[in-house]
Amino acid sequence: MTNLRKEAKKNKKVNSMNKLYLTNTKSRTLQEVKPLHGKHINLYVCGITPYDYTHLGHGRCYVTFDVLFRVLSMLGFDVTYARNFTDIEDKLLKKAHDTLGDEARYTEIASTYINSFHDTMHKLGCKAPNHEPRVTDNIPSIITFIESLIAKKHAYVIDGDVYFDITSFKEYGALSGRNLEDLEAGARVKVDENKKNPGDFALWKSAEANTFWSSPWGWGRPGWHIECSALAQKYLGDSIDIHGGGQDLIFPHHENEIAQSESRTGKEFAKIWVHNAFVTINHEKMSKSLGNTFFLHELFKEFNPMVIRYYYLQHHYRTPIDFSDVGLKGALSAYKRLVQAFSDVHATQASNALVDAMRDALLHDLNTPKAIGIIFEHLEQILHDKALASSVKYFIQNILGLRLEPLEHVTMTPEIEQLLAEREQARAAKNWKRADEIRDRLKELGFNVQDSKIS
Ligand SMILES: [Zn+2]
Repeated sequence: MTNLRKEAKKNKKVNSMNKLYLTNTKSRTLQEVKPLHGKHINLYVCGITPYDYTHLGHGRCYVTFDVLFRVLSMLGFDVTYARNFTDIEDKLLKKAHDTLGDEARYTEIASTYINSFHDTMHKLGCKAPNHEPRVTDNIPSIITFIESLIAKKHAYVIDGDVYFDITSFKEYGALSGRNLEDLEAGARVKVDENKKNPGDFALWKSAEANTFWSSPWGWGRPGWHIECSALAQKYLGDSIDIHGGGQDLIFPHHENEIAQSESRTGKEFAKIWVHNAFVTINHEKMSKSLGNTFFLHELFKEFNPMVIRYYYLQHHYRTPIDFSDVGLKGALSAYKRLVQAFSDVHATQASNALVDAMRDALLHDLNTPKAIGIIFEHLEQILHDKALASSVKYFIQNILGLRLEPLEHVTMTPEIEQLLAEREQARAAKNWKRADEIRDRLKELGFNVQDSKIS
């Protein structure tokens, strides 16, 4: 424990406790979180487009920001967390057309996948944000936002479409580090003849009469980027403390959000931008076309959702995860060890050198693998000290968000079935050693064998 005390003391000097540092994508530095208003922190995280099930990449993003939400609350901040649903988008319309035979039924698609998303988030231990606005419930705010951009000459109308003029916003490209000339010169996208510049993006997309919503520019629907600017302003204000999302959103989505919001308000849109790294499979980005998309509800049939959460937390949020079955099985045995170790421990909140060290790890850019490492490194000591074990369990459950409930209801997998069959054979042959070995292996897989007495 001496080393831990030393480390806690050292961290205290660097950290002087209660100071949270996050890597800000915009400044490319580690930056202290200092609230814009008193003890209040506004957190906005881009939500999903509910046209399909929630996959491993989504899970990683929302578990990351759930830990951030918990850490901010632990520090005594009064946090308002908002996360949107893009419930009108081309992919939703296509899905409604393909599966229900009618594009107009896209709201049914959205409801199905929003329900499924909520279920998945609950299973992953992610706390619900304070606000989960849907785009389709907020069209008037979006229209007002666009009107204001047109009035300030940051946007223009052509044939019922409205575009944002990226040359009207001097800071364009600051977040992603791209400059306007490169963007213009390198734009390989087919230039829409209506647009002034190839990089201009749609704020409003025109549609046939009497479809979607009526606007000052005719019937139509909002473009993708505008919703986050409008919803962040509506629910959190002109300037927010922390804006988050997956790394793939930096360009163009977040760049466009900044352009829209700052052009409207003249104020800095978000103080700190936090982005989590990708989940890849065999080093390739997950995508439907590659056929390597892993849906969480399917993984949950084989692995307890807490094992998946643990798997994410074993990696620092800024480090890419290359997903593998072996990695997940490793997470299963490690998490099982934790569950078993703390099974008879009653959780109580308390501070001590060890909990402080875990806390410091999280305060330093949410270093979850370090916090977990501290537990395993000191597991023996922890379990020999009741008070210490209670405080560590409290931290694991409430800050890391790992429930530590027994891993019951393990679904049969081909491996478990085969092991059970092998074990039956071993028992029939009275090969007790082999039977015990298999029982231990099954236990590792979360399957507890209870033998009936042999008569
Ligand atoms: Zn967004």
